[in-house]
Amino acid sequence: MKVAVIGSGTMGNGIVHTFAMSGYEVAMIDISEQAIQKALKTIDQNLDRQVKKGTFTEAQKADTLKHIKTFTQMKEGVADADLVVEAATENTAIKLNIFKELDTLCKESAILASNTSSISITRIASATKRPDKVIGMHFMNPVPVMKLVEIIKGYKTSKQTTDTIYDLSVKLGKTPVLVNDYPGFVANRILMPMINEAIYTLYTGVADVAAIDTVMKLGMAHPMGPLQLADFIGLDVCLSIMRVLYDGMGDQRYAPCPLLVNMVEAGNLGAKSGEGFYVYQQGSKELVVSPQFMK
Ligand code: NAD
Repeated sequence: MKVAVIGSGTMGNGIVHTFAMSGYEVAMIDISEQAIQKALKTIDQNLDRQVKKGTFTEAQKADTLKHIKTFTQMKEGVADADLVVEAATENTAIKLNIFKELDTLCKESAILASNTSSISITRIASATKRPDKVIGMHFMNPVPVMKLVEIIKGYKTSKQTTDTIYDLSVKLGKTPVLVNDYPGFVANRILMPMINEAIYTLYTGVADVAAIDTVMKLGMAHPMGPLQLADFIGLDVCLSIMRVLYDGMGDQRYAPCPLLVNMVEAGNLGAKSGEGFYVYQQGSKELVVSPQFMK
């Protein structure tokens, strides 16, 4: 089976890494040559880490890298693919365009999967003439490490497509879970309202940042508190997923917390912008609460 991955960002490079180390030929496609170069460097570094840990040999690393080809034009990269995994920017218009184009460029038999966190698979599938072969393949970050693949069946996804992706996920060493296509699927339907509630808890003055995260870490055995996790995911991403839940469910309980909206508008997006609920300095692992919440 030949695989093409669209987008070589945070998720794309991990997905390429995972397929290549399992022996699949992978085409890594991104509109940005810079993003491709960054992804190749990241994959190289992550493979080095596996070699240092002793879970991989130098020869296996070299073999994995040999399985990866890169392209900036979708047409060249997907022509002979049996499976395309789209991991481009989380934007509905971008994804609908990509799937419309993929439908004309790919073999008739090719399965088109999306790694979207929140956009309806049924809607993405409707941009193609093969909705039976469109499916969600939702990997978790960091992809080579995290075991879960949430497989999302769109309204018209066939059993054959679902079975193929399920079996393939097992071959990749992952644990697949089948879910139906409703807002947030399962992962974000449960995770995001929890994060939003943690932000409401802060907003309404019930407790401070450190207290909320400590309760969830020590009390519920979560490896990271919900506010720190929100910073890690990106507050803009959290907000956009809450909006998908709110629009899709039409229920006030999914309304994004006004504090989350304000933080995104102020550009405090979490770790990637240097400040969210905590401040982030390069090289420092210490968790320091943002001065915004120390007043
Ligand atoms: P990212 O911004 O790191 O990377 C997106 C990449 O897509 C960029 O390199 C960009 O140049 C490229 N791109 C944009 N338009 C393109 C096009 N038309 N053709 C080819 N490449 C294109 O984003 P990410 O965090 O890797 O997220 C990718 C997808 O994975 C999104 O749908 C997101 O919801 C989903 N996801 C993200 C996470 C996460 O933790 N980051 C987890 C699970 C799922």
